[in-house]
Amino acid sequence: MDDSERRGIGMTSQRTRQRLVERLRLEGIRNESVLAAIGSTPRHLFVDEALASRAYEDTALPIGDGQTISQPFVVARMTEALIDEGIPQRVLEVGTGSGYQAAILGQLVPEVYTVERIRRLTDQARRRLRDLGYRNVRVRHADGNTGWEGDGPFDGILVTAAPRGVPPELFAQLSDGGRLVVPEGAQGKPQELVCYRRQGDEFSRENLGLVNFVPMLGGTQ
Ligand code: SAH
Repeated sequence: MDDSERRGIGMTSQRTRQRLVERLRLEGIRNESVLAAIGSTPRHLFVDEALASRAYEDTALPIGDGQTISQPFVVARMTEALIDEGIPQRVLEVGTGSGYQAAILGQLVPEVYTVERIRRLTDQARRRLRDLGYRNVRVRHADGNTGWEGDGPFDGILVTAAPRGVPPELFAQLSDGGRLVVPEGAQGKPQELVCYRRQGDEFSRENLGLVNFVPMLGGTQ
């Protein structure tokens, strides 16, 4: 994609995107930098062309391999929980999917690391993020149950697939003072969105409401 094409797409969808931002504001998203990031991210480029016309509805959409790009409200809510009390320097996302959540994070925090277990989605997201110019986002094909070895600890961890319980490696890779936002619970029913805060070896837990995520699985494909 060349620059003029990217600008052209941005122009035509700017108004629709702004409507989405207003809707999220009405639904209770307060953080202006999160709203601005959503307002400036071309979500239609993170889904198949056939679904592009629905990209600015506040709904999850299929991205192939049985996976989904998250609902914008949930992306906003999780991002807000992660950055509300201060911008983390280094954030790990587990479950890259389309790359949309990583693109939002890439505009708000200095360093983003994102891991995806399905190779096709990993490669597609890496290409997309590179083409759109997000140079501070690193994408890895691996099982995120073990976090991201080598570059931790992370000041923030955001899990966008639902584990039954948080893998201990993720707690271990969270810095002191850091936050971990995760949908916790079994599949087939809504999960509890939880924000953990680390203080030393203590982890406090805050419930943020019910959400619906695909399950966090093991291994790679
Ligand atoms: N954040 C994504 C949406 C994620 S959907 C977006 O913005 O589009 C959940 C993703 O988590 C899926 O792509 C799924 O393959 C991935 N996933 C599930 N279990 C995983 C694991 N153990 N490690 C890494 N990714 C995982």
